[in-house]
Amino acid sequence: MTGLRSKEAEEEYREHKENGGLSKGCPLCSEKILKEFKHWKILKNRFPYDRIAQDHDMIVSMRHVKEGELTDEEFIELREIKNNFVFDSYQYVIESSMKQKSIPEHFHLHLVNTKD
Ligand SMILES: [Zn+2]
Repeated sequence: MTGLRSKEAEEEYREHKENGGLSKGCPLCSEKILKEFKHWKILKNRFPYDRIAQDHDMIVSMRHVKEGELTDEEFIELREIKNNFVFDSYQYVIESSMKQKSIPEHFHLHLVNTKD
């Protein structure tokens, strides 16, 4: 199956993971915030889906929790942000399946604008 990253980008990401990059604390908790809401933040993806993406950001819960641990209030705000900010700013919202998720313990969705 062809992935969403180029071979080079996938290799770089694999190396980062193998060198323990993801075990040095959660990157979704420490990356610079591009935009901040009450319960959610927008971050730039350091390892973008570069085969398809011009812009690749992520919407991430402020709390380090799995999807099943999100509160109703957090879900309500997520829906508002999706319907307003996200749909105005991005072409696609992508959720990886469990098989693909590298950080399943911190809920996030991928926000993508594709290349021309
Ligand atoms: Zn986290």
